[in-house]
Amino acid sequence: MLFPPLTRPRGPLRTLLTRLHPYRIPLTLLLLALLTEVYLHNSYYTIHHPARDLDVPFYTSCQEPDLSPSAPREAAAIVMLARNHEVEKALRTVISIETHFNRWFHYPIVFLNDEDWDPEFVSTMNETVSGGAKFEVIPKEEWGFPANINQDRAREAINRQGQQGVLYGGLESYHHMCRFYSGKFYTLKALREYKWYWRIEPDVEFYCALTYDPFVEMAKHEKVYGFTVALPKEPATCPGLFRAVADWKEEQDYRTTELWKAMVSPSWLPWPIRKMMSGLGHRDGRGDGWNLCHYWSNFEIASLDFFRSNAYQDLFERLDERGGFYEERVSTLTPFFRLGKNLMLIMRKQWGDAPVHSLALAMLLDSHKVHHFEDIGYRHDWYFQCPANAPGGQLLQSEVLGGPAFEVREEREDGIGCRCECDGSRTRNHASYCLNRLTQPNKSKRLGTLGWVRSWWA
Ligand code: GDP
Ligand code: MN
Repeated sequence: MLFPPLTRPRGPLRTLLTRLHPYRIPLTLLLLALLTEVYLHNSYYTIHHPARDLDVPFYTSCQEPDLSPSAPREAAAIVMLARNHEVEKALRTVISIETHFNRWFHYPIVFLNDEDWDPEFVSTMNETVSGGAKFEVIPKEEWGFPANINQDRAREAINRQGQQGVLYGGLESYHHMCRFYSGKFYTLKALREYKWYWRIEPDVEFYCALTYDPFVEMAKHEKVYGFTVALPKEPATCPGLFRAVADWKEEQDYRTTELWKAMVSPSWLPWPIRKMMSGLGHRDGRGDGWNLCHYWSNFEIASLDFFRSNAYQDLFERLDERGGFYEERVSTLTPFFRLGKNLMLIMRKQWGDAPVHSLALAMLLDSHKVHHFEDIGYRHDWYFQCPANAPGGQLLQSEVLGGPAFEVREEREDGIGCRCECDGSRTRNHASYCLNRLTQPNKSKRLGTLGWVRSWWA
C-alpha cells in the first residue's frame, strides 16, 4: 500500500502522509496513470529491429579493381574545401586517397575555396591528382550572410561567442563555412554534373585499400549517405538546432522514422512536466531530448540529389531564416565546459553541418539508406576508425594492388579490411555509443545492456 495508515505521526513527512491519507486511492491511481504514460511514451521510441541486417559492408576482403575503360563508373567527384595556406595538409590527404583508392579509379577531385587559388596550390595538386583536378571559387552569394539577416547583430553574436570561448565561434568565416556545407554546397554550379560526392578535408589519412568503387556500390544498393565515424556533439553548442528541426518535422507532418527514434533520448518525466522542459537545450517541443549523436561530416560519400531535393533544401532555408548558423545562443552549461576547454577542446562550432545533415537524414530517410563504411580505415583530427584485416582476403598475388605502398599486416578472424595499416587491436578511439545507437535500426540483433555499457569503452 502506497499510503499506509499511520498511527503515530512524527516529523513533517509523516504529517504530510497523514494529511494525504484520505486521498490515497485517487493519488495511487494518478501515480499509476503517470507511470503508464511515461512507459507508453518511452515505448513509442523503442527502435524496431528488422528480421535481417539491413546494412552490411559491400565487400569484406580485397577485390581486384576493374581497370578496364568499360568498367562501370558513376557521375561522381571527390570534393575538398580548403584554404590556400592548408596546402601541405591538403596534399597529405590527396596523396593518401590517391594511394588507397583513386590510383585505380581516377575520379576527379574538385577543390573549393572562397578566395582565389594560389598558383602553388594549383600546381601541387595538379601534379598529384590522377583523375584531373578542378579549382573552383565559390561565388560570393553562396558564401556569406543570408540576405535576410541583420549583419550587425550577427557580427555581435559572433564576437560574443568568441569572448565566451566557443572554439571557432568568434570566427566569421567558420560560420560561413558551416552554412555553406549545410546547404549551398549542394546547389553549386561547379557540382551540377555530378550525382555523388566524396568529401575530404586537409589532414585526413586513409589506412586501408579501397578496392571497389563506393559510388557504384552506393547506387547499386540504393544508398543515399555513407559515413565512417559517428560521435556525440559537444553539449555546449547548438542547443536550439534540434528544436528547429523537430518543429519543422512537426509542421511538415513527417512520420517518425526509426533513424529519428535513434536520435532521440525520450524523457522519463510525465506529461505535462515533460513538456515544460521543452525550453531547455536540445529538446523538441514535447520535451524529449536529442542524444547529440551525429555522423562526422568531414567524411561523407553521399548523393548530391538527396541534398538538392526540395525536402532537404526547404529545411535548410528554414534553418537559415532562423539565423542559427550565426546567432545561436550558447547554452547555460557553457561556463562549465569552458573549464575543460584547453584539455578537451570540448566547445566547438555552432549549428555545424554535421548535425544538420544527420538530423535531416534521420528525419527524411529509412535507416537502410544510410551506409556505415566500416571497412574504410580513416582518421581526421584525433578520431580514427581502422578495421582489422580480413583473413585470407588480402589478394597477396595481385599485381594491381601491389607496389611498395602496402605492407600487409596481421589478419584477424572477424576482420573485414583490405591491407589496412593498423594492427586491428583497436578499431576506433572513440566510444561507440553513437555508432551503435545510429546503426541499431539496421541491425537484426538488439544490443543488450552489457553491450551498451561496453560500447563506451570500445
Ligand atoms: P572542423 O572540421 O569543424 O574542425 O572545421 P575545419 O577547420 O576542419 O573546416 C572544415 C573544412 O572547411 C576544411 O576542409 C577546411 O579546410 C574548410 N574551411 C574552413 N574554413 C574555411 C574558410 O574560411 N575558407 C575556406 N576556403 N575553407 C575553409
Ligand atoms: Mn575538420
